[in-house]
Amino acid sequence: VQDRLDLLKSNTHNTVNSLLDTFALALAEKVDAKIKNGQEIGLLEGIPFGIKDVYMLQGTLATASSELLKNYKSPYTATAIQKLLDAGAIPLAKENCDSFGHGSSSENTIFGAVKNAVNTDLVGGGSSGGSAVNVAKDFTVFSIGGDTGGSIRQPAGYNNVFGFKPTYGRVSRFGLMAYASSTDCVGPIAKSIEDIRIILNVMSGKDVKDQTSYQSSEISASNILNAEEIKTVGYFKNFIETDAIDPEIKSAFLASIEKIKATGIQVKELDFFEADTLVSTYYTLAMAETASNLSRLDGTNYGQRIEGENLKDTYSITRSENFSEETKRRIVGGNQVLSQGFSDEIYLKGLNLRDQISENFEKDFKEVDIILSPVTPNTPPKIGESLKNPLAMYLSDAYTVGFSLGQLPTLTIPQGTATGLQITAAKNNDELVLKFANFLK
Ligand code: GLN
Repeated sequence: VQDRLDLLKSNTHNTVNSLLDTFALALAEKVDAKIKNGQEIGLLEGIPFGIKDVYMLQGTLATASSELLKNYKSPYTATAIQKLLDAGAIPLAKENCDSFGHGSSSENTIFGAVKNAVNTDLVGGGSSGGSAVNVAKDFTVFSIGGDTGGSIRQPAGYNNVFGFKPTYGRVSRFGLMAYASSTDCVGPIAKSIEDIRIILNVMSGKDVKDQTSYQSSEISASNILNAEEIKTVGYFKNFIETDAIDPEIKSAFLASIEKIKATGIQVKELDFFEADTLVSTYYTLAMAETASNLSRLDGTNYGQRIEGENLKDTYSITRSENFSEETKRRIVGGNQVLSQGFSDEIYLKGLNLRDQISENFEKDFKEVDIILSPVTPNTPPKIGESLKNPLAMYLSDAYTVGFSLGQLPTLTIPQGTATGLQITAAKNNDELVLKFANFLK
């Protein structure tokens, strides 16, 4: 633990805020004592991990990388994090991310842009950028990210590590700051499929504090080694046959498809919604939900407060001064989408498209066991580029947001490209995703 803390501190492009040193070291001493006394130790005893700074860990700062919450302390601990602590894992750092999960590059943060682990001129990806970089650089053994529209899978891909978004509801969201509640998922970033499996098992389960959580069965190590039940794999033609995809990503993806065919697994081309439709449906709903979720941050109960002449001024100055440009863009967009005169035309249309997307997946999973896709159409942008062109940043989410809207389990595995391969299965088939990842190994 001490070595890893030193590594974190000596890192010149540090992605870390609010180090938990004393806390971590005290826990590590407890582990040492347990081992010396011959006491039984937990499954994750002594394993250091990082936490995207959108989770509650009692007594530590929970900033969401935002000005508004920069001094806010967690009054309680998130369920998923508590389960990790109960298994003996040691929280080392709260990790830099896009403010409130808003972004795909980890530049929308008060702590400075997260730099890519492979090439520091490039972004670390987002919004769980700090979490992916910390794992890639071995500062933490694993990190807990948050994925609403790709925020675990995309930075995992950009930094050559594994990142898993479980089926929606498999892991309790209690204690995760809400971005878009209908797609928010808690998941691990790690260096192996086996680590992902273990961490997922520890965090999963029904929680009375999250009504959308459900009880799932444990994924056993031996189960994920046997891939015989995977007969057919599909991919979306329009994700690959488009000018929008980087040629190297396209050829690496098609090479993987050829390898899979050579094993005797059937490969099917599938039809799907256009990238523009997926991105606009996701952003319509995500902006609406975040505008609603963030309305409680008005300086009354949480975070920074700037006094105005009256209450209305106080709300307005507090929010105008403390939310970032990107977050304000989403609040304004979301409130417009929900407002009278627009909601039927835009919000309800978004909900309707989401249903169509889910139906499309149900139909697809009658024909194929697994859907494969690159994680992004593009390679990681240079630092600064995404800030200049938010629309291009939104479009870079084209391959991840559909699976979020469908609430499906989906995993990024490194593929020797700058983006990785995304493996998706039907709802609650998380085990099959890990099985197929193991098979490709
Ligand atoms: N990039 C997407 C967005 O900004 C996804 C973010 C996330 O999953 N938190 O909405």
